[in-house]
Amino acid sequence: MATIIDGKKLSKKVLAELKEETDKLKQRGITPCLAVILVGNDPASKIYVKNKTIACQEIGIDMQEYFLPEDACECELLDLIESLNNNENVDGILLQSPIPPHLNIAKAFSKINPAKDVDGFNPINAGMLAMSYPIFIPCTPLGVIRMFQENNIQVEGKNCVVIGRSNIVGKPMAQILINKGATVTVCNSKTKDLKTHLLNADIVISAVGKPNLVQRDMIKQGAVVIDIGITRLENGSICGDVDFDNVQQVASYITPVPGGVGPMTIAMLMNNIILACKNRR
Ligand code: NAP
Repeated sequence: MATIIDGKKLSKKVLAELKEETDKLKQRGITPCLAVILVGNDPASKIYVKNKTIACQEIGIDMQEYFLPEDACECELLDLIESLNNNENVDGILLQSPIPPHLNIAKAFSKINPAKDVDGFNPINAGMLAMSYPIFIPCTPLGVIRMFQENNIQVEGKNCVVIGRSNIVGKPMAQILINKGATVTVCNSKTKDLKTHLLNADIVISAVGKPNLVQRDMIKQGAVVIDIGITRLENGSICGDVDFDNVQQVASYITPVPGGVGPMTIAMLMNNIILACKNRR
């Protein structure tokens, strides 16, 4: 039976450590500050922003929220980013995704000052990670790595399969694993035989958003299984990509949804804001 990696518990530990950092900064008269941009009325985004607000309050980070309407034009968004880039009080800028489809999210991310890019989505930060000189690492993959460290899960020399190739989760996750000396396979919706790839994996990381995609008969005995996927079901509950009850019988470690990678993502955002603040000031 797998050991369950409790992301909620670990995130509390990380947040307590980070609060010590903000307390020290405050003794020097410095309060880290995050600016969050929300475009439109996506209900899930509002929940994510609320959770970030709670974490910021808990550890003493100022958070400013900027709302743009659903029909905001590109220049409004880019002008807002520019003004936050130039605002000396703002350490980190976060553009909450998704944004309405008429706006070019890649262009918006590339406009964020790399030194304030606490999500790590600016092409400069993505490139630095790809070249093994990371500055800001995207929060979700960073949270997964912290889970590995806390549980002494070694990555070097392991066969890892990342399911999903998005710029914000799958690709940076794979980059980190490559940098750490793993042999990495990245699967996507066109992958011919997912099961064959998974059965060869010592570590499986799923970032798709499809319930029960990862089944027990796809997992090698003793593999580590990390579930990043989040799907909101009709009854309002959320679930991951992994058939948790059955996969936990063959895995050595497994993360639940909820209470796994999600809370770690927020903790790592707080980590990146403090890093940005220290670097800048
Ligand atoms: P995304 O942009 O939609 O990417 C999903 C990826 O899954 C794509 O690369 C897609 O392949 C691949 N895929 C789809 N169906 C597949 C299949 N049957 N077999 C293999 N691969 C398949 O989503 P994302 O932003 O990366 O997020 C992924 C999931 O993680 C979502 O559920 C999201 O809600 C969740 N998430 C969780 C956290 C957290 O903190 N826990 C943070 C961020 C995201 P193609 O590229 O070929 O289409």
